[in-house]
Amino acid sequence: MLQHDLQHDLQQRRSNDDTNRGNAEKVAQGISKMNIGFFGGTFDPIHRGHLALAQAAASRYALRQVLFVPANVPPHKQKHPLTAFIHRYAMVALATQDERGFVPSLLEAPETTAELRSAGQPSAAVPARAEVNYSIDTVRRLKQTLKKSDRLFFLIGMDAFRDIAKWREARALLGECDFIVASRPGFSLRDVAESLPEDLRPPAAVTRPFHKQPATGDLVLPGVSLHLLEGVHQSVSATAIRGAAAQGKPLARWLDPRVADYIKKQGLYRGAFAPFVRL
Ligand code: ATP
Repeated sequence: MLQHDLQHDLQQRRSNDDTNRGNAEKVAQGISKMNIGFFGGTFDPIHRGHLALAQAAASRYALRQVLFVPANVPPHKQKHPLTAFIHRYAMVALATQDERGFVPSLLEAPETTAELRSAGQPSAAVPARAEVNYSIDTVRRLKQTLKKSDRLFFLIGMDAFRDIAKWREARALLGECDFIVASRPGFSLRDVAESLPEDLRPPAAVTRPFHKQPATGDLVLPGVSLHLLEGVHQSVSATAIRGAAAQGKPLARWLDPRVADYIKKQGLYRGAFAPFVRL
């Protein structure tokens, strides 16, 4: 059902955009290419760093859409109890409102309404453990709804990319889409190359000279296409925001004001009574 909605949305948008461009011939033939971004995360909460990455990627690589995909159950154990999916999704929807091509996605939404209802419940009331969301599964599902001519770009920050080799079916995931990696000061091209799974990694003798080169430009290797975005990283993290919210500090400089307002109204990140789901 969700997949169907997404497919419909993508087709609708493709058709509107083509018509707007007056590209009647392509519409008639049903041929049109789309660059689409996939941006996954916990988004607990979504902040200006996420939006800056998506904006830079969208403008540099002409992404017609960026799907923001909050994970219901991320694979890596969180150091903190995760806020219920429905709240994280609501905040993504609020933060992406002003960008026409930014789409809040339900691709990794909980499958049962019982899981959704767990928002605001004490952890004991949370239903049995939900399925872990692996990016490779979600990307494969998404690609089934796209056209062969569409090009999928996986958006990721350098911090997360450092662990890519540990992800489920990392090699397959890197082969399924192009990657846009938002680098940050202090990381070199060598760090990027050495983060790849071993069998895709260039030999050390090749990457060694890269250790002083900033992580920028494109890195194209057999089975991998990486596009490195520099100057995007902002010094903001969801961890810092949760800490500030717990102390009742103002959040406006890190967040869209609508998200800050939502956090306040829902009492998120306020300690024992916050509507967390324990994973
Ligand atoms: P937390 O502090 O809870 O670990 P986070 O702020 O890193 O969260 P996530 O939802 O875990 O946010 O991140 C989703 C994606 O956004 C990851 O690919 C991550 O590298 C990237 N990202 C997070 N913060 C920034 C930032 N300030 N600038 C650019 N990219 C970021």
